[in-house]
Amino acid sequence: MNRSSHRLWVNASLFDGLNGAAEPMAVAVQAGRIAWLKTMSELSADDRSGFECIDVAGALMTPGLIDCHTHLVFGGNRAGEFEARLEGSSYEDIARAGGGIISTVCATRAATEDELFESARPRLQALMADGVTTVEIKSGYGLTLESELKMLRVARRLGRELPVRVVTTLLGAHALPPEYKDNADGYIDLVCNRMIPAAAEGLADAVDVFCENIAFSVAQCERVYAAARAHGLAIKGHTEQLSNLGGSAAAARAGALSVDHIEYLDEDGVKALAEAGTVATLLPGAFFILRETRVPPIELLRRYRVPMALATDANPGTSPIFSLKLMLNMACTLFRLTPIEALRGVTAHSARALGLQEEVGRIAPGLQADFCLWDTLNPAELAYSVGLPRLVQRIVAGECA
Ligand SMILES: [Zn+2]
Repeated sequence: MNRSSHRLWVNASLFDGLNGAAEPMAVAVQAGRIAWLKTMSELSADDRSGFECIDVAGALMTPGLIDCHTHLVFGGNRAGEFEARLEGSSYEDIARAGGGIISTVCATRAATEDELFESARPRLQALMADGVTTVEIKSGYGLTLESELKMLRVARRLGRELPVRVVTTLLGAHALPPEYKDNADGYIDLVCNRMIPAAAEGLADAVDVFCENIAFSVAQCERVYAAARAHGLAIKGHTEQLSNLGGSAAAARAGALSVDHIEYLDEDGVKALAEAGTVATLLPGAFFILRETRVPPIELLRRYRVPMALATDANPGTSPIFSLKLMLNMACTLFRLTPIEALRGVTAHSARALGLQEEVGRIAPGLQADFCLWDTLNPAELAYSVGLPRLVQRIVAGECA
């Protein structure tokens, strides 16, 4: 028996992804997966035999955190624009000077794969330092076949070179590129007929859209969903962020794993999510940076038992935030989630938002042994405080990482 691959973590204060345990727990790991859990009072000397035993002395153990919505591969940044706006420039001035999303598109197109990789790595490392063990990364700043695939290759490479699980999403339908001005349907043809088939060759796990008045219509998004499904890819949507177009219900009807933002979601939309089993992903970072005032319909989501996930939406424009732990606090302070709801949102429910609920997001037998140890006993402290508690250890597939 290879003892090093058999580890027993004892005396853990456990939050298993859904609930906290009443008693200190032991968690056994074999070959990178969770083998069994027992309370410390049930644990016998026999149980310990053959295991390398690690006593965590009461530290809080949670599943590794899952950031299920990021755009962390991009060229350039928008700090200059942020500064100009605070010095009095209008959005119009900035757009005329080539700012906004198009500036990120230009910088991303111009960057080499190595440059994109090198700039994305510290962003991903910042998330990892906060306890993230699984992250979703979207394309969406290339908006040409080749540059969208380039972004996806960089995202895949980040997952190969760093100790973190990376899930990739093609977001070709993020914005209308200047070459297709006044021809949105022509651009959707490119997404459906060229980008999706190419991304389905192992580069993307899912396909996403931005369904909004300033982006793509419900009908255009439905075309993208149909093409994604035809190529065996999961689907997701940026929906109901700035207005209520019915994009969330359309995504749910098409079988979406999640709909994200959803500040303007109404009761019919919430019902559609409940019926389809679609996760509601809340992005308090973008809400905060944009100084929005319309809060997602949390009470309705609770009433219809729609699982709520939480993510950073890490991106250069509307959420240059690389801390998932900060999202726990923002979800509680801005959206009035309870700390336990917020924690489920970055563990069990964010796993569901990626279709990975049988692999990660909970501390349960059979799942990957991805977890975090924190220097507190109380799960609520992770949401309560900013900057503390500290991450003591981050474990991926049973190994300290
Ligand atoms: Zn986003």
